[in-house]
This record gives sequence, structure tokens and C-alpha cells, in this order.
Amino acid sequence: MFLKGKSAIVTGSTSGIGLAYAKALAAEGANVLINGFGDAAAIEKERAALAETSGGKALYDAADMTKPDQIAAMVARAEAEFGAVDIVISNAGIQHVAPIDEFPLEKWDAILAINLSSTFHLMRAAIPGMKQRKWGRIISTASAHSLVASPNKSAYVTAKHGLAGLTKTAALEVATHGITVNCISPGYVWTPLVENQIPDTMKTRGLTREQVINDVLLDAQPTKQFVLPEQVAALALFLCRDEAAQITGANYSIDGGWTAE
Ligand code: NAD
Repeated sequence: MFLKGKSAIVTGSTSGIGLAYAKALAAEGANVLINGFGDAAAIEKERAALAETSGGKALYDAADMTKPDQIAAMVARAEAEFGAVDIVISNAGIQHVAPIDEFPLEKWDAILAINLSSTFHLMRAAIPGMKQRKWGRIISTASAHSLVASPNKSAYVTAKHGLAGLTKTAALEVATHGITVNCISPGYVWTPLVENQIPDTMKTRGLTREQVINDVLLDAQPTKQFVLPEQVAALALFLCRDEAAQITGANYSIDGGWTAE
């Protein structure tokens, strides 16, 4: 349990990739604060299971990633209740699929806020404590869409490209403080986020469900397989190790070869 005594925040961890990160961190003994929306009883079950797994503390915080004051309060709460925030995984994200000239303004604003600005606010709140303790790991879930574009995903592609730039900037700023800052760029991972965009893609491209899965989603991935949330979490766990102390400012693809093409 190499993370015993360390404490982590994972945003957007009530489901999908974020929950896999939280489970992986807890399995290595970390205290974990989970965040995101969903059914209260289901979230409490996950929280209790994380505490059981780690043998440490597990908290749930409902901070809305569109609200900078709630993000700062969440970091302050974790520092108070855990005694430190050593690891921040900025993972909350949403998607909306539509051409630019039909893209709803409120979706543009929400995607930029949740998928990009929340990471800035998390960094801003967590870096001072990490600097004091001379150790920190900041990891964001970017996307293959931080490196390449797809039509009808203007806000998402913009936010994820921005996240890759923010990662590099932050890495340079904290490079001498024992803090590393990296992002992970998955291709298509089988989670509710992908499931939920299938109907919109069917509509905008006039395709059946099977065509969207095989000809749109998996078409991009040379391996013809979805990435698994646990595979993304395993990479994040490696970045938390002391062996990864010289990995910073990097953007790791885990996309079945998508961005190699
Ligand atoms: P998901 O829908 O399963 O999980 C998203 C999480 O974010 C949930 O916990 C949800 O409650 C939370 N969330 C949404 N809005 C929020 C808000 N305003 N405040 C706080 N939490 C909020 O999706 P996922 O596929 O696990 O996505 C996680 C991350 O991975 C996202 O950043 C996404 O862009 C990225 N990603 C996903 C894929 C994929 O194929 N699934 C690929 C590349 C990158």
C-alpha cells in the first residue's frame, strides 16, 4: 500500500473513470474524497466501500465544478479532515454533441467550466499546501480530443486542448517543489459519458446505435476495443509513485492507437 498516509481528491468520481481512480487510490491505502452527482444512497455505498478498502478515511463532497467557491471549499474541507491534500485528480467532465451553429450557449459555458476551468480552480486551491509539504501529484483526465478534433464536439475539443496547455504551464510553475502535473488522454472508454452521446450522434449523423459504436466510436481506435476505466486508473496510480517523480508536463495517450494514425 504505497499511498498509506497520503490523501487524494478525485472530482467526478461518482461514476466511470473517476470512480475507478478512487478505487485504485483506496486500494493503495490513500484517504480519498469523492465528488460528483448521483443517487445519494449509491454514493454513500461507494464512500463506505472506499474507507473499508483503504483502512483510512473516505469523504464525499457535492461541490459543483462550475462553481469556483465550492471547489475551493472542497479542497479546504479535505485539508482540514485529512490533514493534507497530496493528490488531486481533476476528472469531472461532460460532453455535448452538436454543430457549432446549433451549439447551445449554456452547454458551451458548462463544458468550458467543468472540463477546463475547474482544473485551474483545483490547482489554485491545492498547490499552496503541496508546496508547503514539498510533494504533490496533479493529474487531469484530458482526452484523445486534447490532441485531435472530431466534428460536432467544439466545446469538448477546445476544453481538452486547453487542459493539455494548463497541465504544461502548471508543471513548469511547480517543477522545483516536488509536485508533478500530468494529464491522461484516453480514447473511448466504456462509461456513461460515452453511452449518453450515442443517441445524439445517431441523430446528428443519421446512424443506428450499432453504426455509432462500430463506425464512429471504435472506428477511431485501431485496436477496435474500448479502453477500460481500470486501465486509465492504473496509469494514474503509476504517476503517483516516487518512480514517476521526473514525469511532469506530460500528456499520456491511452487510446488503442487512435492518435498514432
Ligand atoms: P461519467 O459521465 O461516467 O462521469 C462523469 C463524472 O463527472 C460523474 O461523476 C458526474 O457526476 C461528474 N460531474 C458532471 N458534472 C459535474 C459537475 N458540474 N460537478 C461535479 N461533478 C460533475 O464520465 P467518464 O467517461 O467517466 O468521464 C470522466 C472524464 O474522462 C471526463 O473528463 C471525460 O471528458 C474524460 N474522458 C472520457 C472518455 C470516455 O470515453 N468515457 C474519453 C476521454 C476522456
